[in-house]
Amino acid sequence: MTILLKSGRVIDPANGRDEIADLLIDGSTISSSIGVDADVVVDCSGKVVAPGLIDLHVHLRVPGQEYKEDVASGTAAAANGGFTAIACQPNTSPPIDHAGTVRQILELAHGASARVYPIAAVSIGLENKQLTEMAELKDAGAVGIGDDAFPVYDSGFLRRAMEYCRMLDLPFIAHCEDKDLTGDGVMNEGYVSAVLGLKGITRWAENIGTARNVMLALATGCRLHVLHVSTKESVEIIRQAKRFGAPVTCETCPQYIALTDEACIGYETNAKMSPSLRTKADSEALLEGLADGTIDVIATDHAPHAPHEKDREFAIAPFGMIGLETSLGVILTHVVKPGVLTLAQAIDKMSTAPAKVLGVTGGTLSAGQPADVTVFDPETPWTVDPSKFKSKSRNTVFAGAELTGKPFLTIVGGRIIDL
Ligand SMILES: [Zn+2]
Ligand SMILES: [Zn+2]
Repeated sequence: MTILLKSGRVIDPANGRDEIADLLIDGSTISSSIGVDADVVVDCSGKVVAPGLIDLHVHLRVPGQEYKEDVASGTAAAANGGFTAIACQPNTSPPIDHAGTVRQILELAHGASARVYPIAAVSIGLENKQLTEMAELKDAGAVGIGDDAFPVYDSGFLRRAMEYCRMLDLPFIAHCEDKDLTGDGVMNEGYVSAVLGLKGITRWAENIGTARNVMLALATGCRLHVLHVSTKESVEIIRQAKRFGAPVTCETCPQYIALTDEACIGYETNAKMSPSLRTKADSEALLEGLADGTIDVIATDHAPHAPHEKDREFAIAPFGMIGLETSLGVILTHVVKPGVLTLAQAIDKMSTAPAKVLGVTGGTLSAGQPADVTVFDPETPWTVDPSKFKSKSRNTVFAGAELTGKPFLTIVGGRIIDL
């Protein structure tokens, strides 16, 4: 089958391309031909045709917590948000610590609404005592090794893990946090936590975790990807680490750009996440980091939870918020519209750069590449209505938010995913 995406604004950062043009999809790949009669013709005038968005930070909750999300709902949510591929984090139940689990996820993902790339756990049970069999995990299809939600405490252990990752050419995908400093805090330590009478988490828990991890990347030569950067200090640490020559990339998430800890006012448990929502000065530093290239990637940290879990006292509700179906709209509204990033730069951080970090295909519209394509309307205003989400979960602070820019069509391997 051939699909012609007609007269869209084709933006392909990998090839420095930004022009009004047609794009032809032939079977499962992008074609170099133009002007042929296609089986399906989609009028894309006024819309942006981009390489499929890739979210390298998703909690798919498989195996073990399918009541929050499963492969079908998670990939449907991804496609509905313009994502053609997602990387799923290893803190499942049990964790993704054996090759069999990686294979099981990939089997479930076969024919799903988005590609799924498993990140495997650094340690058995994510207990950080025994390293996993990373070579077997890689052979089974894992694209990275990580410790999300259970940061490695022992620096010697992490050094060994990073040495293996370097040997296997796998990125280490790190949740940077010193849990001793976090203690039993539940939100950003500051004025708002004091007013609410909630136990704070010092920003230095993240900063010290980031500083240690980038130094170990420098020491070992392991490619380190820092998840969910939320503080101004972490941005500066990574900026300096890159100057130092450390092989580091990092991401931030839409919620850290668009929101502050004031979203917790009213004991809003959907605003409880790890790391915590910070302050205006932090959001501004994140925007600077995006603009100057310190922050390579925008990811969501899509963390689904059931209503009965979030509908509790703030102190005992779980950490995390969903993001797949709001990410593009929030970035277009809060980053592109004010001119912090151009459309091409935003697409780079949401597609081309994450493909590079994970070492996977996609992130480009080059002829011959898999036809993973996102078409979106950059100007459509819409109101976030979680009841329309494809995710099984509804835990978002963006409910009711007015956004500009919406996915129009998601194509995975030449298949039009029904939005
Ligand atoms: Zn995390
Ligand atoms: Zn996470």
